[in-house]
Amino acid sequence: MVDVCDVYKSFGDHTVLKGVNLTVQRGEVVVLLGPSGSGKSTLLRCLNELETITAGRIYLDGELLGMTEQPAPTGWRGMLARRSGAVTSQGTWLRQRTEAEVAAQRAKVGMVFQRFNLFPHMSAMENIMEAPVQVAHRPEKEARAEALELLERVGLRDHANHFPAQLSGGQQQRVAIARALAMHPELMLFDEPTSALDPELVGEVLSVMQDLARGGMTMVVVTHEIGFAREVADKVVFLDEGMIIDEGTPAQVIDNPRSERTRDFFTKVL
Ligand code: ATP
Ligand code: MG
Repeated sequence: MVDVCDVYKSFGDHTVLKGVNLTVQRGEVVVLLGPSGSGKSTLLRCLNELETITAGRIYLDGELLGMTEQPAPTGWRGMLARRSGAVTSQGTWLRQRTEAEVAAQRAKVGMVFQRFNLFPHMSAMENIMEAPVQVAHRPEKEARAEALELLERVGLRDHANHFPAQLSGGQQQRVAIARALAMHPELMLFDEPTSALDPELVGEVLSVMQDLARGGMTMVVVTHEIGFAREVADKVVFLDEGMIIDEGTPAQVIDNPRSERTRDFFTKVL
């Protein structure tokens, strides 16, 4: 489902991701851990094309992000392309995707952030319906019915007409999850979805995420909730200074880390 191949990302002369390789199978839940500043959010943002990568490739569902790979042209155009270095060794060439192509690809990926980012002037229902109606041009009636179903799924059917300010942090985050699901994503990204919540509200959000995982959703989750990682993750990946230095099942990475850095991290957070 996701294939990250030797990805680099720099901001100016600061290289944040230094050759990241990561595979996420369809239906798999990957928990991404690592110290602050190690590049977790940046990696998620690259998966969602909120950032463009400096080098490497990311495939989503077999499709290259950002670029389109097609057979190289023949004749003089092919010769020019070959000369300019745009043709790969497989005889294909790459072109930048158009904005419409990027938008179509981005729609396959839902993202939930630490801050709930709901539109404050819209009710829970309207927040969920916004993208399906405005972006995907679905009929309003259909979008409304589906929004209700999604609210039910996150346990908030009774709160459809509440505005964000009338909802607790945990409820807002559940609406944010429902809003992301409304676009029928094939991949869900979560960036510390519970770290801004009061401790008593963390469980309700994790439980919605766990249901989602059980339902077969492919997920990449940045979280320091080790209990969630143990219980829900198929794979735990430990990122340090822009490199993946440990990767495996929760038991392998959390309980028997290979590297000193990982061991050190877990002694601090556990
Ligand atoms: P945290 O656990 O604190 O959220 P993180 O692992 O998510 O950390 P990132 O937010 O990916 O880390 O940041 C990695 C590095 O990249 C940091 O040094 C950060 O300052 C830098 N960085 C991130 N975004 C930008 C940007 N838009 N411009 C410049 N530097 C950036
Ligand atoms: Mg972050």
